[in-house]
Amino acid sequence: MELLFNYIDGVDNFLNDQWLKILLLFNHDDRLMFTFGTSLVHTVSFLIGNLFYMYVDCTGKPAWMLKYKIQKDKHFPVEPRRFFWCCAVVLFNEILSCVLIYLSYPIMKYTGMSCDQPVPQLWKMYLLYMGFGYLNDASFFFLHRLMHHPSIYKYCHKMHHEWIAPISIAAVYSHPIDHIFANFVPYFIGPILLGSHLSLVWWWIAIAQIDTCGHHSNYHLPFLSSPQYHNYHHVK
Ligand SMILES: [Zn+2]
Ligand SMILES: [Zn+2]
Repeated sequence: MELLFNYIDGVDNFLNDQWLKILLLFNHDDRLMFTFGTSLVHTVSFLIGNLFYMYVDCTGKPAWMLKYKIQKDKHFPVEPRRFFWCCAVVLFNEILSCVLIYLSYPIMKYTGMSCDQPVPQLWKMYLLYMGFGYLNDASFFFLHRLMHHPSIYKYCHKMHHEWIAPISIAAVYSHPIDHIFANFVPYFIGPILLGSHLSLVWWWIAIAQIDTCGHHSNYHLPFLSSPQYHNYHHVK
């Protein structure tokens, strides 16, 4: 048991050391860390979550990926025109996300976001992360359901469902209004309501971004969470 506590202390110390380097890099400028740093994490994690799937979607290689594909007869490889249009919409929404991150800085500070040392201990990070997850799921469920309301659906959310067999990058192929309410708000509702250290906000966003790419990828790879539920939602 003592060994475990020593190990956890070691991880806490390591995270604090790394965070100090980031603080020095940004010259302790909270606004710059949140706006630029969070935008960078948001964009880079989305790219990391997509690069391999994009290669497979564009080339149809490696051929063994086909055995993990859920809708095997669709987009292997994907039609180039459709793919590039999807990329253009995604780029627009990514820029929109960066603008929203910039605008949300005063709210994050008001509700208690901290950027200084020390970073929260691992157990506290874990509890907050779970809280972010529950608030994300609950708000996504409610807002996504709202987007499926017949009087709203055809104006906003229908665009996202043009991809009946989604590809990973289509995770944010959405109408801007849909992107704000069904993508951006659920991500940030937890950090806003619970208050958080910025380092945890970055962890949360990076993991959530990679996760949503997998859920839209149309591939169920071993050891990764199943995208079948969301895939079924796109089919129906
Ligand atoms: Zn939907
Ligand atoms: Zn979707």
